Amino acid sequence: MTTLHQYRGRFAPSPTGPLHFGSLVTALASYLEAKSRNGQWLIRIEDLDPLREPAEATGQILNSLDAHGLFPSEPVHFQSRRSDAYHLAIENLLSRGHAYRCSCSRKELQANHGRHPQRCRDNTSTRDNPFAVRFALNNEQCQWHDQLLGPQHQVVRSEIDDPVILRKEGFFAYQLAVVVDDIEQGITDVVRGSDLLDMTAQQLQIYRALKSTPPRWLHIPVIVNDLGQKLSKQNHAPGLNNQVPVANLFAALNALNQQPPSSLRSETLENLLDWACAHWKRRAVHLTSR
Ligand code: GLU
Repeated sequence: MTTLHQYRGRFAPSPTGPLHFGSLVTALASYLEAKSRNGQWLIRIEDLDPLREPAEATGQILNSLDAHGLFPSEPVHFQSRRSDAYHLAIENLLSRGHAYRCSCSRKELQANHGRHPQRCRDNTSTRDNPFAVRFALNNEQCQWHDQLLGPQHQVVRSEIDDPVILRKEGFFAYQLAVVVDDIEQGITDVVRGSDLLDMTAQQLQIYRALKSTPPRWLHIPVIVNDLGQKLSKQNHAPGLNNQVPVANLFAALNALNQQPPSSLRSETLENLLDWACAHWKRRAVHLTSR
């Protein structure tokens, strides 16, 4: 049973390819934050977009996490099985004026500097054309505190930035699903890559609209390749070699600036993770590139 205020963290990959070094670093940081506080650590597969997700990717990611000794405290959660919850949340937001239907094309929005030519926000009638559902943002100078980066200031622009929460093709969007599931799973602390930093202010407004308390956020610098690009499937980041988990985790601890002693290279996986938990220093993580 979850006790009140107990730390609950998670790693929430989108299965667009196998686990690569950059995602191992994020997974390890969220794992160590949770474990070093006697918390629970969950894995959630964010499989919302079948068009971008090779069928084998989920299995590859879960195998890799397993091979690296990163075991979740509860069974893995799959967003592809959560349609009912997302539908309910969308109905809830639509009925209270926090969301609206929009059939504008990307071209139309671009041509109007992000304003909706059909005044979608005011137009509550049902649509014949395929429509997306967007969350209605409030104009706001948002301030929040990142556990690593400190005070954050983000400008949120209503209408222009309104994120899609249900796509025209019928797929649910990340901005909605991540909030609904973090609420449902009782996540108290989110550790993720700083490529998602700019999403946070919008997510805060979605928490508010759903009358829920947001988690604490901690964004770690994303790992870049020699060209300064984020390691990702699009940039052809290679999948991890699961045969050498100790070497991979040792390199990940270095990337997190934890200064592991070189003797750890010849330790067992279990001993390496024990050392990493006992010596985890969030403050040591470099505050460099986003
Ligand atoms: N699924 C997102 C990704 O793989 C991460 C979501 C999150 O941690 O908030 O980029």
